[in-house]
Amino acid sequence: MASGSGSLMWFRKGLRIHDNPALDYASKGSALLYPLFVIDPHYMKPDPTEFSPGSSRAGLNRIRFLLESLVDLDSNLKELGSRLLVLKGEPGEILIRCLKQWDVKRLCFEYDSEPYYQAMDVKVKEYAAANGIEVFSPVSHTLFDPADIIQKNGGKPPLSYQSFLKLAGKPAWASSQLITTLSSLPPVGEFGNCEIFEVPTVEELGYEDPGQDEFTPFRGGESEALKRLKDSISDKEWVANFEKPKGDPSAFLKPATTVLSPYLKFGCLSSRYFYQCLQDVYKNVKKHTSPPVSLVGQLLWRDFFYTVAFGTPNFDQMKINRICKQIPWNDNEELLTAWRDAKTGYPWIDAIMVQLRKWGWMHHLARHCVACFLTRGDLFVHWEKGRHVFERLLIDSDWAINNGNWLWLSCSSFFYQYNRIYSPISFGKKYDPNGNYIRHFLPVLKDMPKEYIYEPWTAPLSVQTKAKCIIGKDYPRPVVSHDSASKECKRRMGEAYALNQRLNGKVSDDDLNSLRRRLEEDQNQEVKAKRKRK
Ligand code: FAD
Repeated sequence: MASGSGSLMWFRKGLRIHDNPALDYASKGSALLYPLFVIDPHYMKPDPTEFSPGSSRAGLNRIRFLLESLVDLDSNLKELGSRLLVLKGEPGEILIRCLKQWDVKRLCFEYDSEPYYQAMDVKVKEYAAANGIEVFSPVSHTLFDPADIIQKNGGKPPLSYQSFLKLAGKPAWASSQLITTLSSLPPVGEFGNCEIFEVPTVEELGYEDPGQDEFTPFRGGESEALKRLKDSISDKEWVANFEKPKGDPSAFLKPATTVLSPYLKFGCLSSRYFYQCLQDVYKNVKKHTSPPVSLVGQLLWRDFFYTVAFGTPNFDQMKINRICKQIPWNDNEELLTAWRDAKTGYPWIDAIMVQLRKWGWMHHLARHCVACFLTRGDLFVHWEKGRHVFERLLIDSDWAINNGNWLWLSCSSFFYQYNRIYSPISFGKKYDPNGNYIRHFLPVLKDMPKEYIYEPWTAPLSVQTKAKCIIGKDYPRPVVSHDSASKECKRRMGEAYALNQRLNGKVSDDDLNSLRRRLEEDQNQEVKAKRKRK
């Protein structure tokens, strides 16, 4: 049995002091506290084979955001008489090594429903149980415990937002006050021969200057998160009238939504505290919007996707995923690369992809547009490929939410109206007729007159010359024609849905391949017939 007098607080997400029940419990009744974060080389080590600077798992923007969050956490811990102990290596192994060497009777960490952490936590809990170490792992990353909701629903996750809302009700913790401040923390214990580091810089991790002219304007950390939250909720009318999807996706100098997602992702901001602050605003206004469109409604979308993701095996893939339609997507690397590298020739789509690359954040509707374009709207490329690009480049990249939204946008699950396609030309124009967003993120088009900025290939050569942007040379021609590509996508989706219905969802690889071949043959014949007619 462990005889120690200390607690180990293992930070993974939940990089905050406020509303952190694991930290609160760790600090109570313990003479010593070890606040630990493990730098996982898998997540942090530069991988030069990837398509953008970063590790094999994360782009540089997100790595930087995480390091900033750790620096801030360390400084907040220091104010309470403690500090962050940074170690390097495979997190599960390092943790067990620390438990062996340090004076620990209690291990505390926030519960994490992602498969990566679920697997790791089994091993860690086994070790703790065998060595008499108490484990405390509360659910505080989400408003609800996904397992509770699934249990209430007879063991299956609810697949619609409305049924989720009914099952969820009001969160149990919401009737009492959350602990948002701590007055002090126990001192850090001796750490024996474990090598402790300061939070590294990106340069210390081995990254070179990528020579990029613009990086994400969003800084990581709890302090920044709380400041941003305060700013967002200070305008009570704005909060009360918040109605998604009414915001302007092209607003970038002052985004139309809170941009709290990266802080929620790393747990620099507690979603429960955010929820409670919103309820306080609602109490003080005459009327306010409601879920699904309100700000609280957005937090509930987050919990909805966490619940479905937790209860659905293979949620992040098409195959053996019982909620995902089987669709014969293509594997066209050329189209994928054009999309990923902002070279589709559609300025609205390309500007969004540049914002993703440079900022790691885009408005929700902008994400809709590019995800629809890549999959069922125009290019018919597999949603898993797009998901992978987002997963790497977003600073708010979140396993449950990202996969859930890609399933949604590709009409593979949740949403099935595949005839409703975003136009890569007229959608953005509605919000930003002058094309300011495009001019910022695609400076090559900055002098293109507004009549042509969404369709520069239609500009006469004299106009292109004057704008110093020759289409096909300085900026690409469209990779597909939207009218014919979207028509072909709808036809393919229709055939795929019919196949899924006929086989009651039990579509094999062979079934899918034969549909793929037939669709391609039909398309080739149509092209030939068109040529003949001409
Ligand atoms: P706000 O509108 O201010 O909303 C507040 C919070 O509610 C957000 O921070 C977020 O945590 C949550 N939220 C808002 N919209 C959604 C939604 N549709 N689903 C789930 N939660 C939501 N969001 C991520 O956090 N990580 C992702 O990896 C991610 N990938 C996406 C991929 C695609 C293809 C699409 C279409 C959307 C994705 N989203 C993702 C959801 C959404 O676009 C972002 O959460 C939102 O734009 C973040 O901006 P905000 O914080 O200003 O949102």
